[in-house]
Amino acid sequence: QAEIRHKLLYSLNDKQRQAVCLIDRPLLVLAGAGSGKTSVITRKIAWLIQGCGLPARYITAVTFTNKAAREMKERVANLVQGREARGLTISTFHSLGLDIIRKEVQALGYKAGFSLFDAEDAKTLVRDLLHTHAEADSEKVNWIYQCISQWKNDLISPEQAQTQALDKESLHAAQVYALYQRHLKAYNAVDFDDLIALPVILFEKNPQVLARWQASIHYLLVDEYQDTNTSQYRLVRLLVGERQRFTVVGDDDQSIYAWRGARPENLLHLGEDFPNLSVIKLEQNYRSTRRILKAANTLIANNPHIYEKKLWSDMGVGDPIQVWCCDNEEVEAERVANEILLQKMKGISRYKDFAVLYRSNHQARLLEIKLQSFQIPYKISGGTSFFSRNEVRDIMAYLRLMINPDDDNAFLRIINIPRREIGPATLEKLATYATQRGISLLTAIDELGLEQILKESALQRLRRFKHWFMKVIENSERADAIEAVREMVQDLDYEAWLHQNASAPKVAERRLANVWTLVDSLQQTLTRLQEDQPEAGLTEAIARLVLRDILEQQEAEDESDKVHLLTLHAAKGLEFPHVFMLGVEEDILPHRNSLETNALEEERRLMYVGITRARQCLTLTLANERKAYGEKIDTSPSRFLDELPADDLQWEGRQGEVKDPEVSFQRGLDQLEMLKSLLKG
Ligand code: ATP
Ligand code: MG
Repeated sequence: QAEIRHKLLYSLNDKQRQAVCLIDRPLLVLAGAGSGKTSVITRKIAWLIQGCGLPARYITAVTFTNKAAREMKERVANLVQGREARGLTISTFHSLGLDIIRKEVQALGYKAGFSLFDAEDAKTLVRDLLHTHAEADSEKVNWIYQCISQWKNDLISPEQAQTQALDKESLHAAQVYALYQRHLKAYNAVDFDDLIALPVILFEKNPQVLARWQASIHYLLVDEYQDTNTSQYRLVRLLVGERQRFTVVGDDDQSIYAWRGARPENLLHLGEDFPNLSVIKLEQNYRSTRRILKAANTLIANNPHIYEKKLWSDMGVGDPIQVWCCDNEEVEAERVANEILLQKMKGISRYKDFAVLYRSNHQARLLEIKLQSFQIPYKISGGTSFFSRNEVRDIMAYLRLMINPDDDNAFLRIINIPRREIGPATLEKLATYATQRGISLLTAIDELGLEQILKESALQRLRRFKHWFMKVIENSERADAIEAVREMVQDLDYEAWLHQNASAPKVAERRLANVWTLVDSLQQTLTRLQEDQPEAGLTEAIARLVLRDILEQQEAEDESDKVHLLTLHAAKGLEFPHVFMLGVEEDILPHRNSLETNALEEERRLMYVGITRARQCLTLTLANERKAYGEKIDTSPSRFLDELPADDLQWEGRQGEVKDPEVSFQRGLDQLEMLKSLLKG
């Protein structure tokens, strides 16, 4: 016992040790960036298992992104291995919700093999629903989709939304919400927000089901607690129940998901809802140099605070923070790529020690080009989703229909891909027929009454499709499901279809490669899933895959030596020795749509998150001139730069400033050195 104590606790500071060992009542750890909040969680999991003898299967830890969950798993695996760790749950809120729905599918009134709609599917459904009512331009569709999502995050039912509506627009959106829910149910589908909302609704309605889940979670831990929304908080409250054994950690200064319904006030509600809550604040930062930390603290002091926090660091003063003013965005990208190469050539840093952060995805494009031209390997997170590609969506629709033949959305997407000459008139008649009888389109195809309303040839085409498709399903159930999927893709002759529809053979080949990537990752997901749940099949694997993409958007899992390119949002919780932040300008950071007070504070927190990712070197860059909407515009430096401690900044190329000849000379020499070693290499 003493040995375990020593192993798990000796390297922690007093406050951290307290936080790990306090287990008989609810605990909130509230602390700034880099103070070891996530470390407390991982250490505490090990402590619960080894120090307190709690079997791992009774412990659940939740966080927000898959990347964070994976990192947490790795950190725990260093402390607890093998049989001891068996059954431990470390997941995202959404995959926990998916698990609950999957296991309680009947109590929820859904059928097994439900479909999971991502934002794209959900918007398509909204658009279809609007079509029958009013004009359906994409702005309107987006707005209504956002309303529905917010309502769900706030646990507001369609009926409540309708009574609460204050104007015509909101009322209309609320009506669409009601229709939307009905359709989802008919399709046996759930959307992303349902993954949290449905379990909450179920638990509140059904105490027996809740009791079962409470009995299976004896200790709950939540990371990044400041980003929980109303429904997530309610889920936490329900799961911990009377036992109230939980630890949540968070930092109100890093709350950056208000736009997705996050409620940092949840930190305050905890104290009200759990009167015996302990609050522990951590004050030592183990990540960043003193200069970086000071910059972060000075900046965030401009925001109002729920809790006061002090942070200090023992990591040395460190280098000044660089601020590079570049002539234009091209120079900015090139300068960053150049610097990375230079540092790498000096042999002290690896590529993966560098991260380049930006406010929005499109800012990465130029940088990608420069990195490619320098042959610097990189990986990009939070970019365009793999699953938003047409070919991937096509095959996904086939997969969805395989596991859930009632998914009419999927049916309509693929019925003419590849071409089967089933026209819109036929489909409309089929749909009317199916709606009248309350059955799905695929089911309706076999109904006898159809002969009356459809042309013989049309009906035959439909039935031929169904016959073929049922065989595919049978195959997938009988033998190796993934093999059945492979055969289906081949049988479809999807390749030929891609070639007919692509501008060049190369394009078609790339698309086909994406399809096989999809099938491969399905296989991997299934294999991994079956390690924990031997009974898991195609249904679970597909849901997992969609969920992973929604959360991670094609974030590669490789740990190879590559520069990280990520949005500020995606960087949360991570750390890197060198951090570049691009486009520190007005209209970018703060973003042009967020100049009113609340939004501005959130932008400041985003900047705070960015700064605090850096361990040793932080470089902020801006361009004096930038292209926007095809025009060149003059930019101005972000107001946040004025909020940083001037003494700790080292500017380069500031307008109206003569360039320091010595600095440029040194840079020239450095580059010469680099070229030499490149030539040698
Ligand atoms: P963020 O707010 O960014 O999520 P955090 O509070 O979760 O940060 P961690 O990621 O847990 O902080 O820790 C930051 C760094 O400090 C990590 O590299 C971690 O290994 C290190 N660290 C944490 N606690 C200690 C400690 N007691 N001694 C040495 N290093 C520590
Ligand atoms: Mg953390």
